[in-house]
Amino acid sequence: MISSMPNYSLRLPAFTVGKDALSAIRDVIPDHQKAVVIGGKKGINAIRARLEKAAQGAVDILDFLWYGGEASEENIVRLSGEDAVQRADILFAVGGGKALDTCKALGLRIGKPVYAFPTIASTCAACTAVAILYHPDGSFAGPCFLPGPPRHTFIDTEVIASAPERYLWAGLGDTCAKYFEAAVSSRGDELAYYHALGVSVSRSCLEPLLRYGEQAFRDHREKKVTEELTQVILTIIVTTAVASILLTADRIIDYNTGLAHAVFYALTAFPELHLERDHLHGEVVGFGVLILLLADGQEDMFRKMYAFNRSVGLPTGIGEIGITESDLQRVLPKVLSMPDIAHNPYPVTLDMLSGAFRKLQEMNEH
Ligand SMILES: [Zn+2]
Repeated sequence: MISSMPNYSLRLPAFTVGKDALSAIRDVIPDHQKAVVIGGKKGINAIRARLEKAAQGAVDILDFLWYGGEASEENIVRLSGEDAVQRADILFAVGGGKALDTCKALGLRIGKPVYAFPTIASTCAACTAVAILYHPDGSFAGPCFLPGPPRHTFIDTEVIASAPERYLWAGLGDTCAKYFEAAVSSRGDELAYYHALGVSVSRSCLEPLLRYGEQAFRDHREKKVTEELTQVILTIIVTTAVASILLTADRIIDYNTGLAHAVFYALTAFPELHLERDHLHGEVVGFGVLILLLADGQEDMFRKMYAFNRSVGLPTGIGEIGITESDLQRVLPKVLSMPDIAHNPYPVTLDMLSGAFRKLQEMNEH
């Protein structure tokens, strides 16, 4: 028996990509709308001049506002009271995941369309229909689902290629996870149309990264926009978001996430570990992929991904994400309580999890 929604409409990401992606503003956005730009400080700095030039005569930019440093309810409320936000017809979300998500959730709250301008390729936030919210102390608060992705996403490959390379690096980790988490959590289920399509799409989250990841990373280091880099940027931002939208379409069964993300979100529950201060989301999720594969008994794939993590410098040991053996005692039970693994073909147990961490440790010692 396949369970599916009786009626549904899905909106998938619309985007423009390229060195001159912002020039599409005048084709995509209705004339003379008033926009307020909300983003991270670094993101706004990176794109401000190009954005002002591209918007000239097409969109009236009222102001540039800092999102506040955390994707939190508090910042959404504060921003909704800003004069420029109230006067704007549309919101321009600029920066990385947290800035984009804050602006997306704000758009939903005040009923204004959001256009996204990612300045790094670290997560798929620029094209997803969900905003991940945190408490002001950085601990995970929960997802805020939106009726659709941003109206249009402008992916300026030159801006992204000039961003610090660690963001692309973390993006590799987050994007690989999408395939493994979708494949494991949907295993054995009869899938609804959108879920089956999502699982197929998630396969395209892994393959381009294994093929082009290392080269793209080198090109990025030299700030060169190549076809390899563009493919990797699109995989991180667009492919992963398409998979995410399809895999969470009915809000009932969530095939979008799994053990790799459970490891990350569990760690955010211990502010004293300073995970958010010292490490990026995708960096830790990329580590979590290794735990997922070991817990799932996928030894060959584990070796492949272990080698991949090594080749691009993603973490392979707990020391690299600032965790000690004794921290694990507290962290592992928390991992088991995360909603990310609520839908799994078998219950993940403490034994499975500690076995996976032990095997990884042994691998590192060899
Ligand atoms: Zn993620």
